[in-house]
Amino acid sequence: MFNVKSAKKFAQNKEDNMREYLLIPGPTPLPKRVIQAMAKDMISHRGEEYGKIFGSILSRMKKVLGTTSKILLFPSSGTGGLEASLVNLFSPQEKLLSLSCGHFGDRFIEIAKRYSLLIDRLDTPWGRAPDPDMLYDKLKKDRDIKAILVTHNETSTGVMADLEKIGEVMKDFPDVLFIVDGVSSVGAIPVRQDKNGIDVVVTASQKALMTPPGLSLVSVSDRALDRTKSSTLPGYYFDFNLALSYQEKDIPQNPYTPPVSLVYGLAEALKMIEEEGLENRFKRHEIMRDMVREGLKEIGLELVAEDDDASCTVTAAFVPEGEDKKILSLLKERYGIIISKGQGRFSGKVIRVGHMGETTYSDLFWFISSMERIIGVKPGIGVVRAQEVLFEEDENV
Ligand code: PMP
Repeated sequence: MFNVKSAKKFAQNKEDNMREYLLIPGPTPLPKRVIQAMAKDMISHRGEEYGKIFGSILSRMKKVLGTTSKILLFPSSGTGGLEASLVNLFSPQEKLLSLSCGHFGDRFIEIAKRYSLLIDRLDTPWGRAPDPDMLYDKLKKDRDIKAILVTHNETSTGVMADLEKIGEVMKDFPDVLFIVDGVSSVGAIPVRQDKNGIDVVVTASQKALMTPPGLSLVSVSDRALDRTKSSTLPGYYFDFNLALSYQEKDIPQNPYTPPVSLVYGLAEALKMIEEEGLENRFKRHEIMRDMVREGLKEIGLELVAEDDDASCTVTAAFVPEGEDKKILSLLKERYGIIISKGQGRFSGKVIRVGHMGETTYSDLFWFISSMERIIGVKPGIGVVRAQEVLFEEDENV
């Protein structure tokens, strides 16, 4: 007969291999296929086999981003890609406008300052998305601005910028480059780079692209590539033109030894994304957003982002100051769930849960149910709400 007591012990005893639910906003869990693809022997990074795999990444990424721009790959985390987007295109004392609305927007500013770029800020309160009307007024007044920096999905607050509306504004300012940090959005949320007139999109392997950390991808429009000619900032490792000259050889390759295993993994992940279908994938992430948001609201938590600005890949919720650590440790110890703390000025005030890539609806039910227990509400109320969202929105369930 089924022994409830020992089943419980098994589920709750870490030493007995309790399953972990990694629900931080990156790195995200890896699909088995990606793990298997990486468990292969080394090949020559100048040979045809590598060139084929690398080439497939470059063309598949174009589809994910909705672009005909050049895609460049660098062996670095997303921050390296952000740095690359600055060192290749600008010169010291040039002015950029940041539309920061959180910790990662501020980090982008920090990088620009290290390269002696001048930063003007058009801040929005943390929890709200950048305001396109304010952007229009600002660009109209200040003709020295060379580029705008936008965080598509602000991971510290769970807020998504409206790239379409910002793109509309940018049509009136054709000399100003539109640079997007898509580290926690690409692969889960549409960027539609060409349609939205975006010059540079930076992303990284470890979030919605379901691959380990270590690769950044930078998509660069012709207009942006043209700016490399006038940029006087030095650089070698992240040089766009150097990277391009290697990947445009008969056998696509990199200027230096690439992390071959990660490239295997990313190629497989992109294949999986294609199999799922981009639009299906975008829809699945919307559903995950709504399940988490509605479930958490139902159990009484206040969310950081308003519904209109809410991210499809990460949700931040307020908790009583200082309670974050207790919640995080109970989630981990009792339920095997790992989520994240608040960052920057939200440190100690919010918890953040990631829902992207390989994360499943059932992972989210388990998270919401565990939160019910920790918060101490009537069992099931958040889960039922999340179920209602899922049943309404996904006809395949
Ligand atoms: N931008 C955003 C929006 C992010 O979420 C992150 C990582 N959390 C970064 C930049 C930095 O990326 P990485 O840690 O890969 O350098």
